[in-house]
Amino acid sequence: MQDDSQHNEWSLETLAIRAGHQRTFEQEHSEPIFPTSSFVYESAAEAARKFGGKEPGNVYSRFTNPTVHTFERRLAALEGGERCVATSSGMSAILSTALALLSAGDEIVASRSLFGSTVSLFDKYLGKFGITTRYVELSDLNAWEAAMTPRTRLLFAETPSNPLSEVADIGALAALAQKHDALLVIDNCFLTPALQQPLALGADLVIHSATKYLDGQGRAIGGAVVGKHELLEEIFGVVRTCGPCMSPFNAWIFTKGLETLSLRMKAHCENALALARWLEQHPAVSKVHYSGLETHPQHALANRQQKGFGAVLGFEVINGQEGAWRVIDATRLLSITGNLGDVKTTITHPATTTHGRLSDAQKEAAGIAPGLIRVAVGLESLQDIQQDLARGLDALVTD
Ligand SMILES: *Cc1c(COP(=O)(O)O)cnc(C)c1O
Repeated sequence: MQDDSQHNEWSLETLAIRAGHQRTFEQEHSEPIFPTSSFVYESAAEAARKFGGKEPGNVYSRFTNPTVHTFERRLAALEGGERCVATSSGMSAILSTALALLSAGDEIVASRSLFGSTVSLFDKYLGKFGITTRYVELSDLNAWEAAMTPRTRLLFAETPSNPLSEVADIGALAALAQKHDALLVIDNCFLTPALQQPLALGADLVIHSATKYLDGQGRAIGGAVVGKHELLEEIFGVVRTCGPCMSPFNAWIFTKGLETLSLRMKAHCENALALARWLEQHPAVSKVHYSGLETHPQHALANRQQKGFGAVLGFEVINGQEGAWRVIDATRLLSITGNLGDVKTTITHPATTTHGRLSDAQKEAAGIAPGLIRVAVGLESLQDIQQDLARGLDALVTD
């Protein structure tokens, strides 16, 4: 029987495959699914104890579900957190965290390079309830400090950033948060615990869109928050009351997805680094943004803080938007889509898709050049990916 007391001894690769599964009396080897909305009791007295929280156990799947719990325990073990709460999506993980920990008048200091919907959530929706967000340059610690006020309650960052692969010093941000009595929240979507463990570096909470690498095969939408028990209890309260809970079917997919996480991330990183080096040499490419390259301004920090550099990279081609669109349209293998975290390689033009809502001036400030292409490198053969990109890139040079 597997139990939590063994977790300390297991390596990450083992935890990803074994942690969190409590076998039922059926002695199943693989993790089961419990597609049930509610649970029954032996007696009225037992029901009363479970409803009143006097005895642990399931009541209703908006609150807890065994399949969801297996995923939560496994991800908590991987992130090195005391507890995990799973949610219906990455966005609802962020929303639930905000609802649990912020009140009207509180302030967030956040990185300027955030997932687009996160910015909309902060500005359009949290803003309605009197919560304000200030945005700063991800890697500029002084800017973070300058934006803090006595009302700052939350620091929020994604590192490395998308699509420019900028890196934040998580330890330094954690120290800053602590000094100001605020909490540091890291969206760890791009690296996953296989490559980066923000809690060990001092972050208070880790957010995931499980939709990305935790599943890894583009099958389901889900999210999670991991951290200390005390904070997670508040976030659990929001999820159980407001309802953005994870479905048992999705939890099962994510649990099985985690079993190959270490292997997949290793292979993603290898493909991405090789592709970045190849792109760097191509005459149609003017710049490659990838923290794994020695030329990246924060390569040393990334090397220290991360076990790998991830698989999302940006590169700029000659001839601006026209050049970028030609390279994208010349692909036959790569999927033209904004999604990432998939075994299938995806390609997108940030200036007209993921960052299309920004004005030209905002794009320039954020480094979203017209010729910038983002590739989330999958697990197809490197040679095939290169060949697919070479078709458009070579044409740009010969024209
Ligand atoms: C996709 C994504 C999210 C949102 O997750 P959903 O599962 O789509 O709700 C949040 N943060 C980052 C970095 C993402 O890539």
